[in-house]
Amino acid sequence: MAVTSRRDKIDEGMESGMNRMMVSAASFIVMLAAASSGSAQQVPKPIAEWPRPAEFPKEDRAAAIQHFHKARDYAVGDLFADFALRCVTNPKYLTRVNNEQYDGHVEPMQVFDDLYRVGQMAVSAWALKTSDGIVLFDTLNNEEEARDILEPALRKVGLDPKDVKWAILTHSHGDHFGGAPYFQRKGTRIIASDLDWKAMAAGKGRVPAPSRDMTVTDGQTMTFGKTAVTFYVTPGHTIGTLSTIFPVTDRGAKHLVGFYGGAGLPRDVDAKRAQIASLSRWRTITTKAGVDAQIGNHPLNDEGLERDEQLLYRRKQDPNPYVLGRAMYQNYLGIQEECVRFALARDGFRD
Ligand SMILES: [Zn+2]
Repeated sequence: MAVTSRRDKIDEGMESGMNRMMVSAASFIVMLAAASSGSAQQVPKPIAEWPRPAEFPKEDRAAAIQHFHKARDYAVGDLFADFALRCVTNPKYLTRVNNEQYDGHVEPMQVFDDLYRVGQMAVSAWALKTSDGIVLFDTLNNEEEARDILEPALRKVGLDPKDVKWAILTHSHGDHFGGAPYFQRKGTRIIASDLDWKAMAAGKGRVPAPSRDMTVTDGQTMTFGKTAVTFYVTPGHTIGTLSTIFPVTDRGAKHLVGFYGGAGLPRDVDAKRAQIASLSRWRTITTKAGVDAQIGNHPLNDEGLERDEQLLYRRKQDPNPYVLGRAMYQNYLGIQEECVRFALARDGFRD
């Protein structure tokens, strides 16, 4: 008979239920196998081992409140991201910073008519095209990245790696000078500050350094083709961090870039104080010069990826997202400076 009893239906139901359980058990085993053979990231960490926010038991609360709000008040419009990174995530939630700043591919980008980002996710390099060849700012982590990331990126934006005549090193950390020996062997002149040349020679960057080459001093201007770059020594992030001011054009319109060479918060108290002094001085210098555009040497320091996306979808009427305007550039620096003061206050120090 074709009629199924109620009892049969229940059994059937149970059976199919069992089948589902077996299927899900099987996929669970597959998941476990994938987790054990694959990357460790797929295994959930016990909660007890999760990263905790940094703690500041010695905080000078009155000073912390003061500087936190000074920074927050500067952070109008698009600058909120800078405040969020400088005063909040770094250094309180370092894992979050590290998860955003990892070795990974990014698209090279023409940011101005004559300036290109040619780096990777964790660290940027920039190519400035002049009438007499290319000036590179920074060289990524090592020779392999110089060869396999930086050079292909140059080609992709229509530049010839053979034209890289100079490489300016913003500071003596390996993620910025690691690729310099590669370019040096090909005849590129390497430029750094005296103090950071010494730091590189002392092996502070943990990767092979280029041989000492050209040294620039505070306030010096060098002309590459028709493009003048002015250098300033702005200690803090490293002892001889090099910051630069140079002109670019955007769809033919002139702008002046302020490239602060080491925005990252230093750990040491005296280095923090030095960075505050440098940033304060940098505000005076860039105000006088009329700097209106900002770039950084890590995508996190200039919201590079997010700004590049705005360039990708830019319409005729849209401004260049790297051009903040003179007043907003000063606000940007105000955030940088106040967040370092805030960091000092959180550690119980006055600046
Ligand atoms: Zn650095």
